[in-house]
Amino acid sequence: MSEEVVRPRIRGFISLTAHPDGCAANVRKQVEVARAMAGEGAGGDGLRHVLVVGSSTGYGLASALCATFGYGAETLGVCLERPSEDDKVASAGWYNLAEAHRLAADEGRALHTINGDAFSHEVKQQVVDLLRARGAQLDLVVYSLASPVRQDPDSETTWRSVLKPIGEAYTGKSIDLRRGQVVDAHIDPADADEIASTVRVMGGEDWRLWIKALRDGGVLAEGARTVAFSYIGPEVSHAIYRHGTIGRAKEDLEASAAGLRAELSAGGGGAWVSINKAVVTQASAAIPGVPLYMSMLFDVMKAEGTHEGPIEQIARLYRDHLAPGVAPSTDEEGRIRLDDLEMRDEVQSEVSRRWAEVTTESLDDLTDFAGYQRYFEQLFGFSVDGIDYDAPTEIHRTLA
Ligand code: NAD
Repeated sequence: MSEEVVRPRIRGFISLTAHPDGCAANVRKQVEVARAMAGEGAGGDGLRHVLVVGSSTGYGLASALCATFGYGAETLGVCLERPSEDDKVASAGWYNLAEAHRLAADEGRALHTINGDAFSHEVKQQVVDLLRARGAQLDLVVYSLASPVRQDPDSETTWRSVLKPIGEAYTGKSIDLRRGQVVDAHIDPADADEIASTVRVMGGEDWRLWIKALRDGGVLAEGARTVAFSYIGPEVSHAIYRHGTIGRAKEDLEASAAGLRAELSAGGGGAWVSINKAVVTQASAAIPGVPLYMSMLFDVMKAEGTHEGPIEQIARLYRDHLAPGVAPSTDEEGRIRLDDLEMRDEVQSEVSRRWAEVTTESLDDLTDFAGYQRYFEQLFGFSVDGIDYDAPTEIHRTLA
């Protein structure tokens, strides 16, 4: 037992602390949405066992919560989070899962977590062993890893992903998150090694290795489906995102979906990439220009009542594309499009107009930067309504 007053220590797109009660409250809110939005078939016997790789924050957490609380599936998650130690708080993802486990245990639902390096052979084997021991066959595998590094499981090599343009240097608007100022970011183009490393970390290779390990281990159900997440986004972000190193990795992920789809369709299942909306997560906050874009996008989408966070997106993914008996609808390239509302012409033309105009002086008028910052603080359990931040709280929480 160790009670502490936990204060925010946010540095740009990094938070050094996380508040256990704030994270718990966020999870409870997401669970409510997951339950409310679950469509027909929820609780039926179609979605029995689900694996989520990257289950502790962002899109992966939302996927685990929808599976467990929306569809009554037995869910196994894999993540890389830091538990508390002595007087040091745990990471936000750890506190998120502590609350999800507590709620699941209270309601007699099955949620399990393996906290370890998803890129390693050992963690893949642990997952297979656990599923076998439980006699579980997976209906759905959600691959939602976002990582800056990947240790090659077969050598000493460490690959690092970089967020850089390809071919030419990029100069474009961005927010200096520490000072709240609109600045010009300048990023030199990636070299060939950086491009290849980013594809190794964020491309489809590890997703394919997961599906192979699960198939070889005999823990994929007949008709199993798998989904991974990608992003396209607006023209203004293309140089750094879609046409940059991360975009190259996403092309590889999307090509992997086509290969996996062919393999899994034999049993009536399949593999898809879902193109999701821009949402505030640890991963997206680190991409130059994206926080500025999101600050504008959210302002526009909130005004027209179409704004969604990760849980609304994923609840829609399950309800409209992955629920038992539902066939995913896709674009002509075979991708699920959850970014349909973000990419509407009306939304994008308004964002482009504001993008061209925005300066530090007009930041508050043309964007919801304050709202963006609040979302970012909330990722770590701060600025959450109803939490007494002056009260000491238990920092040691377990994944019961
Ligand atoms: P996130 O940072 O919130 O979550 C990343 C997850 O990966 C966490 O659960 C973390 O614990 C886990 N993880 C990282 N390294 C790991 C490792 N080595 N072993 C085990 N677990 C590890 O990220 P996110 O934004 O939810 O991104 C998830 C996916 O969604 C990514 O593919 C991302 O490109 C995609 N996506 C994100 C957005 C967005 O705006 N955030 C939009 C579209 C698509």
